[in-house]
Amino acid sequence: MKRILLSALILLFAVTGLFAQGQGQGDDRIVIGVSFSDFATERWPNEAALFTKLGQENGVQVIVQVANQDPKLQNDQIENMVLQGADVIVVIAQDGDAAATAAEAAAREGVPVIAYDRLVKTDKIAAYLSFDNVEVGRAQARGVLKVKDRGRFVLLGGSPTDNNAILFRKGQMEVLQPYIDKGQIEIVADQWVENWDPANALKIMENILTATDNKIDAVVASNDGTALGALQALKAQGLAGKVPISGQDATLAGCKSIVEGELTMTVFKDIRKLTPLAFDLALALARGEDIRQKYPEIKDYDLADLTLDESFRGKKVACYFLPVVEVDKTNVYEEVIKSGFQPYDEVYRDI
Ligand code: BGC
Repeated sequence: MKRILLSALILLFAVTGLFAQGQGQGDDRIVIGVSFSDFATERWPNEAALFTKLGQENGVQVIVQVANQDPKLQNDQIENMVLQGADVIVVIAQDGDAAATAAEAAAREGVPVIAYDRLVKTDKIAAYLSFDNVEVGRAQARGVLKVKDRGRFVLLGGSPTDNNAILFRKGQMEVLQPYIDKGQIEIVADQWVENWDPANALKIMENILTATDNKIDAVVASNDGTALGALQALKAQGLAGKVPISGQDATLAGCKSIVEGELTMTVFKDIRKLTPLAFDLALALARGEDIRQKYPEIKDYDLADLTLDESFRGKKVACYFLPVVEVDKTNVYEEVIKSGFQPYDEVYRDI
């Protein structure tokens, strides 16, 4: 309940565009803007709350805004942050192409942009900080294959404007392709879920079940939200718990569904590490420090390899990727609950 209240409060701050004024003893001339695509997925409001808290603890002003999945609004908000004097802007892009315009404009004004979790497709960003997204996709395919390694598979990709969705798919296909080549697995449907919306995923899965006469053996879905949407359609046909399905984010509902035996697996990405790292990077950039010297983990990647789009070949971006953990019912307690990421009482409630 306390968590929900806290998230609601942060949400209120964010949507009204209020400033979270730093209260500590730190460098309160520094302003960090954080531009979220949406708060629809569980993780984002939690990360907004963490950015705000870090700002308060360090005496840094943090401006949080959320664009409700509207790329144009997001660009306007980023532009406004520049006008409001942001020293650095952290962007969680709704659309990696569209956000490039705003990031390039900010860079021209001397304001560095950090692409957070999702790539902004331009080499004018100061850094891209994320998890190992290709490995997320591999883990999703592996998790499903552990239960079912032959038959008729459904691919449920993420939002087509989110570059991560492309990287997850890349990882999924790396693992699935040998099975497809052997004729052991057939892909009977391949869809992308606009805005990562669970309601879209539900509709798509209903249509797939109708078209295939319920003859599907597994679903490689790309996050918990869309997997749980698809699971509703599977449930209506008595297939929940019978057809393996992957997720991502180790959300509360996802972990609950895993212990209930419906969602097969999720991928745990520890945002408690990602957000502080982004905050530190932002501070370093605001102070004009050399982030490559400060973080030897940062490596240059070619944008073509990050986007799978050859037209970007030769353009380099400084990247920092954190590892991910494949989670199913055998290790959800050990990995997700024990570390305090999700509360035992709620995950195991009514079990
Ligand atoms: C993130 C996922 C998230 C999804 C939907 C992706 O870019 O990496 O963690 O579930 O967006 O918000």
